[in-house]
Amino acid sequence: MQLTILGSGTNLHPTRAAAGYLVRTDQTLLLDFGPRTLTNLLKTGLNRHRITHILFSHFHADHFSDFITFFFDAVIYMKYGGGWRPDLTLIGPRGSKRLLGTIMATFPSFSAPPFRVFFKEVSDRSFMIGETRIAPRVMTHVPDLHCVGYRVEYRGKTVAYSGDTQYCGNLLRLCDGADVAVLDCSFPANKPGAAHLHAGQCGLAAKEAGIGRLVLSHFYPIAERYDVRAQAGEEFTGPITIGKDLLTIRV
Ligand SMILES: [Zn+2]
Ligand SMILES: [Zn+2]
Repeated sequence: MQLTILGSGTNLHPTRAAAGYLVRTDQTLLLDFGPRTLTNLLKTGLNRHRITHILFSHFHADHFSDFITFFFDAVIYMKYGGGWRPDLTLIGPRGSKRLLGTIMATFPSFSAPPFRVFFKEVSDRSFMIGETRIAPRVMTHVPDLHCVGYRVEYRGKTVAYSGDTQYCGNLLRLCDGADVAVLDCSFPANKPGAAHLHAGQCGLAAKEAGIGRLVLSHFYPIAERYDVRAQAGEEFTGPITIGKDLLTIRV
C-alpha cells in the first residue's frame, strides 16, 4: 500500500494544500479532496480519470471543494471526446448524497454525466472495495455534523486517517494497531483550539492505539510556529513524520 499526501494544511494556508490523500492498493482511492489538492494530484503523474472512489470525511470546504473542479473536468473529458472513464463512487458520512447530489443537480454541466455516479453513506460498518477493506468510524468534530475517519486495510497493512476530530474513544478504535495513522494536528499543544486535536493529543492517541508510525497533518498556520513533533513525541516514542504535500509513504 502507498500513501501520498496531497494536502497537509487547511483552507487558507500559505504553503500547504488543504486535506487530501491518495491511497494506492489494488484500488486508487482518494481520501478527501480539499482546495489545491487537485493540483497536487496532477503533480503525482497519476491519470486522474483512473480514480473510481472518493471517500469524504466530512463536508467542511477544506475537505471537499476541489471535488467540484474534478467532477466538472471529468464530465467534460468524457462528454467531448477526451476519452473514457470508469464509474465513480462517492463515499462519505450522512448527508453526502444530499450535498453532492445537489451540487450535481445545480450545475447545468453536471447533470446527466456520461458515466455512472454512485453514492454510499457510511458510519461504522466496514466494506470492501476490491481487495481493500474500508472501516469507517464516526469521529467527534463539531456538533450537528456527521464526520467519519477511515481505516484502509490491504494485504495485512493498515492506514488510519482521522479526518477532523477531537480526542475520542472512536479515534483510538480507528487507529488501533495501525501501521500508519494520519492525524489532525491543527494546533500545537500549548495553543489548543476548538474542534480539533492538538499535537500532544496526536501523540497520546498514537501511544494509546499502539500504532507504528504517526503522521501529523492538517496544520493550521499556528502549528508551524511550534515544534509539534517534539510535542507529540512527549507521549509517543515511535517514528513521527511531519506531513508534507506530495510526500509518499510506503506501508
Ligand atoms: Zn472540519
Ligand atoms: Zn479540516
